[in-house]
Amino acid sequence: MAQHRYMLAEDRIPDRWYNIAADLPSMPPPPLNPGTGEPIGPEALAAIFPMALIEQEVSPERWIPIPDAVREVYAMWRPTPLYRAVGLEQALGTSCKIFYKYEGVSPAGSHKPNTSVPQAFYNKEAGVRKLSTETGAGQWGSSLSFACQHFGLECEVFMVRVSFDSKPYRRLMMETWGGTCIASPSELTNAGRTILAENPDSSGSLGIAISEAVEVAATNDDTNYALGSVLNHVLLHQTVVGQEAKEQLDMAGAYPDVVIGCVGGGSNFAGLAFPFLEDKIAGRDIRIVAVEPASCPTLTRGTYGYDFGDTAQMTPLLPMHSLGHGFMPPSIHSGGLRYHGMAPLVSHVVHTGLVEATSYSQVECFTEAVRFARAEGIIPAPEPSHAIRHVITEVERAKEEGVEKTILFNLCGHGHFDMAAYADFLGGTMQDLDVDEGELSRASEALAALPGIG
Ligand SMILES: *Cc1c(COP(=O)(O)O)cnc(C)c1O
Repeated sequence: MAQHRYMLAEDRIPDRWYNIAADLPSMPPPPLNPGTGEPIGPEALAAIFPMALIEQEVSPERWIPIPDAVREVYAMWRPTPLYRAVGLEQALGTSCKIFYKYEGVSPAGSHKPNTSVPQAFYNKEAGVRKLSTETGAGQWGSSLSFACQHFGLECEVFMVRVSFDSKPYRRLMMETWGGTCIASPSELTNAGRTILAENPDSSGSLGIAISEAVEVAATNDDTNYALGSVLNHVLLHQTVVGQEAKEQLDMAGAYPDVVIGCVGGGSNFAGLAFPFLEDKIAGRDIRIVAVEPASCPTLTRGTYGYDFGDTAQMTPLLPMHSLGHGFMPPSIHSGGLRYHGMAPLVSHVVHTGLVEATSYSQVECFTEAVRFARAEGIIPAPEPSHAIRHVITEVERAKEEGVEKTILFNLCGHGHFDMAAYADFLGGTMQDLDVDEGELSRASEALAALPGIG
């Protein structure tokens, strides 16, 4: 009988995070101060982040130790299982080996607590009382509420309006863990009031919600801001995923030909992929693919240059692929992938050709999510259904080429709170929401005024 599941003992929880910056052949350009056009120094971030995280953000060290207090919380669900997708392989009739790392076993049901826990820990150590943040589908808000509760911090979450209305259970998870959840745009901040004055029915966006959360942190001494993706330290924290996966694949006597992850801001992808990218940079033959929604095609159709991380232009300018900070993605079910930008590190490795990028529409992704659920049992979150859809492409290509591949992907969360999306698909009412070309070109025109990257 083929083995389905590869488990590691608790003492194999990684004791360090892997920092890809130490191994990149070239570094991404620095974030810029939008006022001066000069690189921003660490002190510019001190109003909203604790020093320990700022140091990680700019660290050149390859390995960064994980505090024991963080590993103790990780031990509630880590090491996570690695599965061989025996059922899916059979359903597809392929001789490829398909593996997936399953991050849905965390309390919040996704990979996000891998970073919410250390972020809450370092803020607590720095004497901070409260964290403010934004959330799209609610995954990050619930993950940070869980972590804040554990370390005795208050948590205030600005949730994108469309998800606030359509995903009440995520809000209730936040409240169950003691967090406060506010629909964004809100009347609580200047950024929110400005948007509402223009468009009282705004369905919100991650860019707007980030503006609101940053404003709260920047204007309150005892409050810091926490981001669930995009920044270097967030991607760093996620590398426990790839480190464990490597060890589990060793147990299975396997090594991937291709590693796949879905990308919103880039963190679950980087968490799985960067420890393998280390091997690729060292000369190993391996392909790495980032998969995004066709209706928010940041890497495949965006511009690589400097852009703001948020709609109200409060953040530093980040070097990244972007659709423009004013871009309003269509209301697809993959709320976690509706972000106009991309992590600078992920943008850089795509720009330099180390990583490939591709995109799919939501109906084809849900088709594969349902096939996966029937074959493997686990119901995927809408976001990783993009990774699953690309697995199918790899399997088809392997067949055409007459080769057997080993494929690894990140099943970064379960879909238990996304059953309304499955209802839409199973009821036959789901549609592919195409990008509004007019909106796309308007939003990218705004980018032309910002510094480019050669
Ligand atoms: C937040 C989230 C994403 C998107 O964020 P990344 O930083 O790109 O990983 C993807 N999948 C799930 C399940 C999420 O919760």
